[in-house]
Amino acid sequence: MTAEGRPWFQRLRESLTRTRDQLAIRLEALAGRAIDDTYLAELEEALILADMGAATAMEVTSRLRAARGLRTTADVQAALRRILLDLTGPAVPFQVEPPPAVVLALGVNGSGKTTTIAKLAYRLRGEGRKVLLAAADTFRAAAIDQLAIWAQRVGVEMVRHQPGGDPGAVVFDGLQAMRARGMDVLIVDTAGRLHTKVNLMEELRKLNRIIARDAPPTVERLLVLDAATGQNAISQARLFHEAVDVTGIVLTKLDGTAKGGIVLAIARDLKLPVKFLGTGERLDDLTPFDPEAFVDALLPQ
Ligand code: GDP
Repeated sequence: MTAEGRPWFQRLRESLTRTRDQLAIRLEALAGRAIDDTYLAELEEALILADMGAATAMEVTSRLRAARGLRTTADVQAALRRILLDLTGPAVPFQVEPPPAVVLALGVNGSGKTTTIAKLAYRLRGEGRKVLLAAADTFRAAAIDQLAIWAQRVGVEMVRHQPGGDPGAVVFDGLQAMRARGMDVLIVDTAGRLHTKVNLMEELRKLNRIIARDAPPTVERLLVLDAATGQNAISQARLFHEAVDVTGIVLTKLDGTAKGGIVLAIARDLKLPVKFLGTGERLDDLTPFDPEAFVDALLPQ
């Protein structure tokens, strides 16, 4: 079956409806017009409005300008598809092999981090893996309780300490428990207060060092970003990446935004792979990132 026929592709297409419709309206307005500088300037504006970022949009149109033989809207669409695919780059899969693997979940409060951890745990458990959660956002009692509710709902165990405790101690216990209980994956929740606070980044560096010292064979440092925050997500990513060397992005709330183009800005400006897309609030609303499916769902047919 092609991607088009699959339920996850339908969900992805649905999630990108607002972004795609906005692009479609603008492409339709350009249909039949000569593909000249004015045309390309208007197309560039449409790409910026889809939150691809000014630099990415400019690169797309300059590549279109350099392409030969573009006569019809269909030609432009086909070239656009090729360029966007090229800028998105190849898929970099989420890695939990070989076990035991640690997933350090990062992101500012409200980005959808807790929900993403639950979705990931649900997915990994569905694949037959033994999953353990560590509630290392000890700064908020509510964060620990929220994670505990999800752990119960998904049916996985969780390591927790008292609110106000040392997050490093939670990670340490989580790592020990993972080995002692023969778990495959430990997912660590972390604090997400304002990312501009230097002490948060210090704290995350510390957690990262504790994990590195334990030397699990596989480590993912996943940054959760809310697609609706658009270009802000890019500056958040820079700060987190500087602190802990992010290995992948989870872009959440794609379903509620017209800013789906942010994926291109992440790939091009940050050179960080998007590994999952959040397409809703349900446990199965987490789609592994597939560049071709993404570009096909983004562009109007
Ligand atoms: P945290 O503070 O980063 O841990 O954020 P939460 O996981 O508590 O999520 C904040 C809100 O975003 C909640 O209402 C979630 O249901 C919602 N949310 C998370 N991911 C998605 C998504 O992919 N799509 C939609 N529509 N909502 C989401």
